[in-house]
Amino acid sequence: MKIIVLGAGILGVSSAWYLSQDGHEVTVIDRQDGCALETSFANGAQISVSYAEPWANPGAPLKLAKWLLRDDSPLLFRWRADWHQWLWGLQFARECLPARTRFNTIQLTNLGLYSRAALIDLRAKLALEYDQLERGILHVFTSDKELEASRPGLELMREFGCTMNFLDRAQTVALEPALNAFSGQIAGAAHAPEDESGDAFKFTQQLALRCARAGVTFRYDTTIKRLVKNGGDIDGVEIEHAGQTQVLSADAYVVALGCWSAHLLRAVGMSPAIYPAKGYSATVPIKPGQNANTVSITDHQMKIVFSRLGDSVRIAGTAELSGYDLKLNMLRCQALTRRAEELFPGVLDNARAQYWSGLRPATPSNLPYIGKSRLGRLWLNTGHGTLGWTHGAGSGRALADLMSQRKPDVDFAFMGS
Ligand SMILES: Cc1cc2nc3c(=O)[nH]c(=O)nc-3n(C[C@H](O)[C@H](O)[C@H](O)COP(=O)(O)OP(=O)(O)OC[C@H]3O[C@@H](n4cnc5c(N)ncnc54)[C@H](O)[C@@H]3O)c2cc1C
Repeated sequence: MKIIVLGAGILGVSSAWYLSQDGHEVTVIDRQDGCALETSFANGAQISVSYAEPWANPGAPLKLAKWLLRDDSPLLFRWRADWHQWLWGLQFARECLPARTRFNTIQLTNLGLYSRAALIDLRAKLALEYDQLERGILHVFTSDKELEASRPGLELMREFGCTMNFLDRAQTVALEPALNAFSGQIAGAAHAPEDESGDAFKFTQQLALRCARAGVTFRYDTTIKRLVKNGGDIDGVEIEHAGQTQVLSADAYVVALGCWSAHLLRAVGMSPAIYPAKGYSATVPIKPGQNANTVSITDHQMKIVFSRLGDSVRIAGTAELSGYDLKLNMLRCQALTRRAEELFPGVLDNARAQYWSGLRPATPSNLPYIGKSRLGRLWLNTGHGTLGWTHGAGSGRALADLMSQRKPDVDFAFMGS
């Protein structure tokens, strides 16, 4: 088949790779001058099967109410005159019901395990290097209350196959000595030893190179204007490059445009529940002679993650549902480096921090849309929210299976199945 993949983030490029391996003729289109230059650029770097509990959970409404007035809170709704946002909020409220949270956690764990295995497989097969570390993820709790509140979710992931070891303070610091100065504040931790970390941007760039060698065509600096609908089918995609507009046709189209998928899909009558959840990261060099963490850390009190990438630490977190604006709010940026200073005092060269913001393509349930849409020839691989890097390889592999009429080897609620 001739297939056009719309978007060259981690989801578009992994889709292109697996589709090309099935012998399809694949073209990838993106408005940037390279791949992974938007949300896949500087994320938290975690391959985190163990972060499968969705934002929407029974504890979320109370937490959100408490955070409402704090400008540096981990999750912030800034209500706008945008009914898509209000509808998203209502759907989010529904996903906070215990049965929905349980279902979503199991689905995300299944997809996470499948995807992590796909990533490991790709890395070995293609010799990809992207500052990866296989030291697991340490979920650190600063209060017994927070640890006990998280325990059922973590136990559920364990029940469904995610290895998880509960550690006391001494065991936590023994595993990650860089936390020594912070140890007085640690109540306990959960370590997921098979989770990983690594640079999503470097990974995607290398995979795109392998795609190009395998015959995939990349058309950069090209804006996707609209899908051309004909009755119940998609017949083409209108693009603009260097001031010229053109319609390209194919046998199938894959939408992998991150949070911008929503605009394109609404214009052809679909109503995906995807809304941008803005997050920030700081990439900070380690001072000479200092030791920073090598185990990736999730700080549950502040909802901030810390991943070692070569000679730097990537600190990421915060979520702001406030539209598509990417402007850096320095208050929220500095909340990241301030917290890093509490965990690893004197270790990072904060004066050289590189701040970044990105828009997670968030769905109310945290479940992505993968599979066949109700419009002929149109497939989706989008809406991966907080876990697009974790689910990148597996989602691409599963989509290629579905497009070749094979059943993916994972229990997940794919579209159209
Ligand atoms: C602060 C932060 C921390 C995160 N940490 C983690 C983490 O630790 N682990 C994890 O698993 N996930 C994490 N994520 C989530 C992850 O980064 C995303 O889910 C993932 O990058 C989404 O990839 P994507 O390919 O769907 O979207 P994108 O990477 O945004 O790709 C979409 C592409 O579409 C292109 N595009 C959009 N519109 C058009 C158009 N009209 N015409 C042409 N091209 C267009 C864009 O240029 C872009 O390249 C984090 C996200 C953020 C913001």
